[in-house]
Amino acid sequence: MKKTFGKIKLKGLAIIFTLGLLFFPNGTTTVFAAEVASGNGWTLDDAGVFTLTEDIPYVEGQPYEWAPYAEQIKEIVVAEGVTEIPAIAFSSYNGVNYSQLQKVTMSSTVKVIGLSAFADNPTLTEVYLNDGLEEVKNVAFGGAGFTEIRLPENVLWYSDVFYNCDNLVSVTIPAGSRWEGANAQFYGCDNLTYVYIEEGVDTIPFTFLNACPSLKYVWVPRSVTTIQGTPILDGACIIGYKGTVAEDYVNSPTGEYNHLVFHAIDGDEHSYGEWQTVKEATCTENGLQKRTCDICHTEQTQEITANGHVWDDGTVTQKATVDAEGIMTYTCTKCGATKTETIAKLGQEPKDQNDVSQSPKTDDYSNISLWMMLLLVSTGMMLSLNAKKKLS
Ligand SMILES: [Zn+2]
Ligand SMILES: [Zn+2]
Repeated sequence: MKKTFGKIKLKGLAIIFTLGLLFFPNGTTTVFAAEVASGNGWTLDDAGVFTLTEDIPYVEGQPYEWAPYAEQIKEIVVAEGVTEIPAIAFSSYNGVNYSQLQKVTMSSTVKVIGLSAFADNPTLTEVYLNDGLEEVKNVAFGGAGFTEIRLPENVLWYSDVFYNCDNLVSVTIPAGSRWEGANAQFYGCDNLTYVYIEEGVDTIPFTFLNACPSLKYVWVPRSVTTIQGTPILDGACIIGYKGTVAEDYVNSPTGEYNHLVFHAIDGDEHSYGEWQTVKEATCTENGLQKRTCDICHTEQTQEITANGHVWDDGTVTQKATVDAEGIMTYTCTKCGATKTETIAKLGQEPKDQNDVSQSPKTDDYSNISLWMMLLLVSTGMMLSLNAKKKLS
């Protein structure tokens, strides 16, 4: 829990803890965040949270007012209403060191992040960019320490924005991403392994992924119609669709020179893992299982045939009498479903026609009478034939 005491200025943790104990003598752990410094368009509290509250102009050669407090800043919060983070505002450079900065959160009103605004802060591991962001200038997050970052759609990215972000492992390039300048966007990101370019991006710019030695997989959607020279390094696997520029690029002299491999999302050569059950089959309903390609994450699904009931030995739920049939009830040991069968009246044979052992016995008499019938019929036929011959 955090409370800000408006304009009351408290200096030093000792005072705050004393006040805390005063208000909560029972040892409640509430800590009051108190302002330790402020200036034109910014405040800093004793928890290390810096809040930018107004648009501040960048004046070349003049340090920002908050620069003397740089080493106390752990988190930067941009307030609603701020539209631009000015150039080199929170960059560790020229003797100013944001050595504790871990987290940056933009407000919904930010449109522009300036040149090198957060550059060279390897401790910066959490950055939350806002939807509605329009432009991010050169090297804005160069050398930052995050392992991932969500990029908003429809942003114009200048060059080298994520230059040397050595902890970055995977990144998704969303729809509407556009490029300005030479654009070595992820140049030198030592651990960048997965790059997902989403449908709605049309160009992979020049040297986009150069000097990324860990790069393994790059997804290229159908919407990409231009791949500018040598964007992808040695041996990477380009994942895309047949007959697109992604496939052409892999098969081009540049692609061959860089030993690129093409994996077709719409092809037949997937590297499927084990089947995973999505829905279990029941006695009466089919289930579903799926497996996923290790490389392109294409999924294949398949039905699992229903198991059928497993009936128990049955229980007599109504005894047969001389006058009335009984009922035998069977229960499925898997799902509890039941079915019934009739038990014949006492002293009678069961009625089940399908059960040979229960069909009425045929004795010798009935056989004899059948033969005698046949004999009579054939004799009659012969007699009538003879009669016809005589007549003619
Ligand atoms: Zn695949
Ligand atoms: Zn069942």
